[in-house]
Amino acid sequence: MTLTFPQVAVGGATLSAHDVSAWFGTHKVLERVNLTMAAGEVTALIGPSGCGKSTFLRILNRMHELVPSASLAGEVRLDETDIYEPGRRITDTRKRIGMVFQKPNPFPAMTIAENVLAGLKLTGTKVSRGGRVDLVEECLTRASLWHEVKDRLREPGGALSGGQQQRLCIARSLAVRPDVLLMDEPCSALDPTSTRRVEETIHLLRSEVTIVIVTHNMQQAARVSQQCAFFLAEQGTPGQIVESGPTDEIFDSPSDERTNDYVNGRF
Ligand code: ADP
Ligand code: MG
Repeated sequence: MTLTFPQVAVGGATLSAHDVSAWFGTHKVLERVNLTMAAGEVTALIGPSGCGKSTFLRILNRMHELVPSASLAGEVRLDETDIYEPGRRITDTRKRIGMVFQKPNPFPAMTIAENVLAGLKLTGTKVSRGGRVDLVEECLTRASLWHEVKDRLREPGGALSGGQQQRLCIARSLAVRPDVLLMDEPCSALDPTSTRRVEETIHLLRSEVTIVIVTHNMQQAARVSQQCAFFLAEQGTPGQIVESGPTDEIFDSPSDERTNDYVNGRF
């Protein structure tokens, strides 16, 4: 008997890197990275410090090119669009690909509501006054923060706890309705309870936004991701992906001994 299931609509877009190499000056830091980050999935990037995970993430939203000495080769596609196509504006990419960093970085003196809306200014997105009020509630709800701050919208962002500030940053990146959210060690500066709240938020957002997260916490990678990519830079060589695939395979039956050693803490 053949069972058919209705197609479930998932948001997000598929982001793919093709033979991506990167340099700072003459120092090559990434070598031919290939990875497809599917819509509706969370991809975890794991690997020791210095192997190029942050650089790779910054290439995915065109932040890498802001470093004067930086260069790259290869291609990055957002669905069918080549984000590095000559003539394509950087803001077009920024609207579709949001980023959250290790250290929560809300604008401390701006109110909570102003923080949520700040991304609209940067990308030049116009929203009516009523639309802005609704957008603040929507984004804070999607970032699992609304109930905690709905009576505090005029307080400065800096008045929130570290974990709340990180969810505020997630809300801020959601305001431009991105297809992809990149997160560079978003919980490294947070306590365990705040970490769990951010992980819950990731779970809730997963069907709406394609998520790529860098983490040093193997339990976290196992909890939040469906796909995992293990990066490694061996003895002065540029960072490469040793292995990528479904998270349970990477953890339970990796094909490379180095992956096995890393996910089991033997590095
Ligand atoms: P990871 O995030 O995996 O720790 P990074 O992407 O931060 O790794 O760094 C990869 C390599 O690139 C490292 O050797 C690092 O020193 C180098 N690097 C990162 N950023 C810069 C920069 N702005 N200028 C020069 N070298 C850099
Ligand atoms: Mg890093």
